[in-house]
Amino acid sequence: MSTTDKTPGTVLITGASSGIGAIYADRLAKRGYDLILVARNAERLGALAQRLSAETGRTVTPLVADLADKDDLREVEEVLRTDSRITVLVNNAGFGSAIPLLQADVDAMEAMIDLNVTALTRLTYAAVPGFVARGGGSVINISSIVAVAPEFLNGVYGGSKAFVLAFSQQLRHELGGKGIRVQAVLPGATATEFWDIAGAPVASMPQEMQQRVMRAEDMVDAALAGFDQGEFVTIPSLPEAADWNAVETARQALFPNLSRAVPAARYGL
Ligand code: NAP
Repeated sequence: MSTTDKTPGTVLITGASSGIGAIYADRLAKRGYDLILVARNAERLGALAQRLSAETGRTVTPLVADLADKDDLREVEEVLRTDSRITVLVNNAGFGSAIPLLQADVDAMEAMIDLNVTALTRLTYAAVPGFVARGGGSVINISSIVAVAPEFLNGVYGGSKAFVLAFSQQLRHELGGKGIRVQAVLPGATATEFWDIAGAPVASMPQEMQQRVMRAEDMVDAALAGFDQGEFVTIPSLPEAADWNAVETARQALFPNLSRAVPAARYGL
């Protein structure tokens, strides 16, 4: 996905009407991609599409869809299955919650799973066979640091983002040899409307926490730099890549002992 590519193709970005998705749209249009921008808010999508095509000369197509709605989701899947110009899928649409389990509405939790997990899964399944058939393509999945630190926010949100990380790990394992790039991006707190929707606006955070919130522009620029460097997991604020690599090494060291015919001796059976 370098800036020197002559015809990088089309990228489909979900959740492109605001926040992180809108910045991906801006940056990728400037890298020469045509765009298909998916979200529910037609007005915002239309305005962004107009601005980006005027500024960059790229073809920018708004695709209004509620990815939690089965029919709308199937329409976006169909675009991914049939439009062979698409070379990159950015699975970004999602929302979170800061509400503890004892106060949360389980229907809202299910809606979160519908978007953060089900839609992301179905869109990936729609896009990837075409990428493999055409010999290449990239999937950028927006997870979160709560994938590894679910204690920070609502447990269903953390669980949904842990799914995105695990799903991405297996995608990369299965498809890496087929020319498919997979990146899991784990942003920390980023200044977007996410926090208003999650019930914890940035302005209401303690001052110390507000100072740890990254600009969405910086988050996306770091994530794209990580992509260019060939990273699989990108944690934009993590100073030392070696720290993530140590976690990964420890995880993989478990593999030989994760499944055996007998329980471990320490259980005394
Ligand atoms: P945001 O500004 O609220 O953006 C969310 C985007 O998703 C919007 O474009 C929204 O557009 C779209 N969306 C929401 N529900 C949708 C639906 N049912 N169908 C289609 N589109 C839908 O928040 P953001 O921070 O940019 O979030 C982007 C991603 O980053 C999310 O997956 C989030 O979990 C992740 N993330 C955010 C942070 C953070 O601190 N901000 C940290 C880690 C991870 P419409 O309302 O127009 O549909």
